[in-house]
Amino acid sequence: MKEIIGENNKKVNSNKNFNNGNLKCEMCLNTHKTAKIINHNGKNICIECYYSIKYPRNPQKMKDEIKEILNDKLNNKKNKTPYNCIMSLSGGKDSIVALYLLIKEFNVKPLCITVDNNYLSKGAIENCYNITRYLNVDWIVLNRDFTELFNETILKGESPCRRCSELIMREIWRKAKMLNIDVIITGHELPFGTSPFKKLKDNITMVRLLTGYNLTDEDRHNILKELPWKNPELGGYTTNCLVLAPAIREFYKKYGFSFEFNRICAMVRYGLMDKKKALEVLKCPDVPNEIYEELKKRGLNIKK
Ligand SMILES: [Zn+2]
Repeated sequence: MKEIIGENNKKVNSNKNFNNGNLKCEMCLNTHKTAKIINHNGKNICIECYYSIKYPRNPQKMKDEIKEILNDKLNNKKNKTPYNCIMSLSGGKDSIVALYLLIKEFNVKPLCITVDNNYLSKGAIENCYNITRYLNVDWIVLNRDFTELFNETILKGESPCRRCSELIMREIWRKAKMLNIDVIITGHELPFGTSPFKKLKDNITMVRLLTGYNLTDEDRHNILKELPWKNPELGGYTTNCLVLAPAIREFYKKYGFSFEFNRICAMVRYGLMDKKKALEVLKCPDVPNEIYEELKKRGLNIKK
């Protein structure tokens, strides 16, 4: 790839167009400190943005693929369960928007499952209750306790998100298997590469519904405005999780930036969030004292 210019290329770094050698991606928030920056068609972009151009996502194509898999479920006469799919519902704005679109546009009958890891905000549970009533769909809650996981990660200044998501998906996968349902819908907005699907064990497919839409933050809020959903105001970029903002603060103390950086960067790259909002979201979150008190009550003692 001859257009690639390494971050250590002195000629590039000394060019004053490059902001005194401080190379920045013109598409997302990456700099030469966080990713390799290359020159592509006269623009400085990071290697991740370069691949996003080389292998573009196609929301319409992903939506068609999702439609196909859900139509299959609808037309499957052999289906012995009353549900076509499972909707993984956290009560946060993304999963609520995904559930709404699932009902409104696909006409399927989901079983909504919320895995309460003991650190979902009360507001998020109320939002699940209100929205499933409003849309007239069934909803169950699996009560779990992830205190140990959060103790092991947050107190060491590490992100708990990946392991928490894996544990939640494992619980939902088990229920899917038990109930003989082979599609699990989630409210994630970023695809697996360029696909909305991920094959899980035993032929169960995870579907990221929002990859079929290009919803900006504003689009989501416009949908939510019409629904019985309230923002629980938890600090940080979350609308359901009590530990995210305190976890980011702990991470900030250790590393000086947010562990959400890559995800937010990707949202900027794909036009789902503007840079101004992204920079705001990536600041060290201000966490109200009440949240620390609530965490303590639930078993997690983090000092502010
Ligand atoms: Zn970039």
